[in-house]
Amino acid sequence: MHQASADVAVVGAGPAGLYAAYCAGFRGLSSVIVDALPEPGGQIAALYPEKKIHDVAGHVAVKGRELVERLVAQAAPFEPRYLLGRTAATLTRDEDGAGWELGLEDGGRVRAGAVVIAAGLGRSVPRTLPCLRPYEGRGVAHHVPRLDEHRDRDVVIVGGGDSAVDWALALAPLARSVTVVHRRSAFRAHEHGVKQMYAADVRVLTDAQVTACHGVRQLEEVRVQAGAEELRLPAQALVGALGFVTSIGPLADWGLRLENRLIAVDRAMRTNLPRVYAAGDICTYEGRVPLISVGLGEAATAANHAAVELRPGSRLAPEHSTARSADLDAVPVP
Ligand code: FAD
Repeated sequence: MHQASADVAVVGAGPAGLYAAYCAGFRGLSSVIVDALPEPGGQIAALYPEKKIHDVAGHVAVKGRELVERLVAQAAPFEPRYLLGRTAATLTRDEDGAGWELGLEDGGRVRAGAVVIAAGLGRSVPRTLPCLRPYEGRGVAHHVPRLDEHRDRDVVIVGGGDSAVDWALALAPLARSVTVVHRRSAFRAHEHGVKQMYAADVRVLTDAQVTACHGVRQLEEVRVQAGAEELRLPAQALVGALGFVTSIGPLADWGLRLENRLIAVDRAMRTNLPRVYAAGDICTYEGRVPLISVGLGEAATAANHAAVELRPGSRLAPEHSTARSADLDAVPVP
């Protein structure tokens, strides 16, 4: 089974985890990033890739998707290894007792000198409907990693929240058709987005439910019950935007000190386990504010403290990045 090793293992590829990998790399440490989701970006990628974020320092407004691309590009010069679609299930001391071994749910193992847990709200599992399951991976998905994949397709979006509305608006200009199916009469999304959706080239079916999917190998048709009428919609893609069930999951059994199911940390982002740090929304301390910008700062603190522990005698304060322009400028920013 898959083995990997690095100076730092990062659990979670959300903004805090991605930035922890950058900061570790800047200190000359290698990293492996494990995430249960199939793409990096955490909540941003899963829930609001098309929304503009206005409160990340230095960005007047940045689309969720772009912020994630930039965080990935920023870490890229240090070549973090991504293990995506893989869940970290156990954390145990490695054989010589100096470092840690993460056990993955699929049997894989990751050895590291230090661990940064940046697991956000925990493991996210998309909510789905029984009739969608047989076509998951065959036309039915719960993420839209690349909008362009849906060019000239008939797309059905199921859900009534912000993600459903955002994806409908983003896909309308390039898909052949976009139909939103929502089981209630009113949307839970922001009013402005809902108005835009009704004005756009989007068919909206409310008080309606998807009852079945059909297709030989791939999805070809979606059946929808709308009142007394059964509709047969041609569809090569269905996006389930029904939200996610999140749980701290296996982390609860790692021997970490938890407070309200979050990991308690000190001012250096240390947990109660040696060389195990936590950053971002998974960690807690008095007065913590759950924002991306706060998690980025915590990631920097965690990675720099890990650097000192792994390289005793090194300074806590990193070299200024301005002194490294020559090697870091070589990497294009998307
Ligand atoms: P997350 O983004 O939650 O990432 C954690 C990652 O860890 C996930 O990908 C998860 O799959 C992975 N993971 C968890 N457990 C495991 C495991 N055992 N094994 C493997 N992987 C695991 N914040 C702002 O600052 N500004 C905003 O405008 C803003 N808007 C928002 C809008 C919405 C709709 C939502 C839902 C949130 C918003 N937030 C905003 C909050 C922001 O998204 C979070 O604060 C931020 O994503 C937290 O980042 P993180 O890296 O700590 O965790």
